[in-house]
Amino acid sequence: MLQHPSAYSKATESSQAPSSAHLHWLLLDLNSFFASCEQQESPELRGRPVAVVPLKSDSTSVLAASYEAKKYGIKTGMRVSDARRICPGIQFVETHHRLYLEYHHRILEAVEEIIPIHSVLSVDEVACELTGSQKQVSKALDLARRLKKHVQNRVGICLTSSVGLGPNTLIAKMASDMQKPDGLVWVSKQEIEKKMGELSIRCIPGIGSRMESHLNRIQLYKVSDLLKLSPGQARSAWGSILGIQIVQALKGEHYVYKAGQTKSIGHEHVLAPELRNPQKAFEVALKLLDKACVRLRKNKFRCRRLQLAIRFVDSSRFENEVQFSQTSDTGFLMKQLKFLWDLTSYQTPLKVGIVLSDFENEGLHQLSFFEQDNSRREKAFQAADQLNEKYGKDTVSLANLLGMKNQAKGGIAFARVPPKEEFNWLQNKSSAKKSSSS
Ligand SMILES: [Mg+2]
Repeated sequence: MLQHPSAYSKATESSQAPSSAHLHWLLLDLNSFFASCEQQESPELRGRPVAVVPLKSDSTSVLAASYEAKKYGIKTGMRVSDARRICPGIQFVETHHRLYLEYHHRILEAVEEIIPIHSVLSVDEVACELTGSQKQVSKALDLARRLKKHVQNRVGICLTSSVGLGPNTLIAKMASDMQKPDGLVWVSKQEIEKKMGELSIRCIPGIGSRMESHLNRIQLYKVSDLLKLSPGQARSAWGSILGIQIVQALKGEHYVYKAGQTKSIGHEHVLAPELRNPQKAFEVALKLLDKACVRLRKNKFRCRRLQLAIRFVDSSRFENEVQFSQTSDTGFLMKQLKFLWDLTSYQTPLKVGIVLSDFENEGLHQLSFFEQDNSRREKAFQAADQLNEKYGKDTVSLANLLGMKNQAKGGIAFARVPPKEEFNWLQNKSSAKKSSSS
């Protein structure tokens, strides 16, 4: 995990503002959101290392850790057994998706009482545009302090946040990451190089480990290296116009995150012990794919790639993918999944995940000479999606998914806030479960 230079801590908030400095965007990011919600709900968890897990089992992984746990080195994705070993007193809490969504909406309401929200970037992040005198550094800092306090007063004392202020949402987002927890960092356009030049390129949203190694290979390591690139160099570094956009944004030029800029749709699921055999695991993978296809069609996308990832109990992994002409046809994609699945070895699966990517918007879709026209089938799936949305999940489902209704329920990914109808479904399921067990 990359550490941001400590020089950016409190000093950043209090550093002298050039008189001409203006800030245009405020980004609020809740700290350790899932764990904070749990600590807010259960006072006995406050001040203690807490890890949120999908289910209480040594073989699952940590979904989120409280700051007290992060101090011990507990990270998202760490196995529960490892987390217990490095932090013996750690408290494990099972996820409460409904609760996090409720907190999400309460936070949005609290923010809106102080400043209008421009875009909701994820379940724990919002961006707000500063207007008029709010753009002055001292006013923007006052507003940010007031906002952070207001969220805690209205929603809960454990809901601390880090706020970043900058000339655009990219810089504001990076500023919010520079001081955690409970941070407040501002970076004006004139000070980007000074305050952010030394940051690793990995601190830039959207640059993952693969892109990082690619850029490292062409001698680009730090933000300051990217700031020196001409548009032509930026384009060839990324291999697309995206490079130009990112470098312009890093220079503080106008840039607005497009909320919901979806590049892939994926779901994964840690298998309960009774599902850890190839047949049951495949059924779970089908269910995950079905959910992903519904989201694909809802976003009016077609995909060209399906990836399958399986982690086995012995920690080995299987990953493979297939590519095809653009489609949103669940039946076709299920066949592709079966093809991938048949390439796997017969070990005991622990976790399965699928990802659809390489999207094309429906409107842009043009049938090639060699493609089969699946539009009638796709329309049938769209009709089924609409019925399911209106009358409840699984009103219409493919025969091979029947009997799988309760498996692979939605987990929250930080980057994706599930729409309310999905949560209503989750809530119905969990209240049905509660009443049957009480
Ligand atoms: Mg956060």
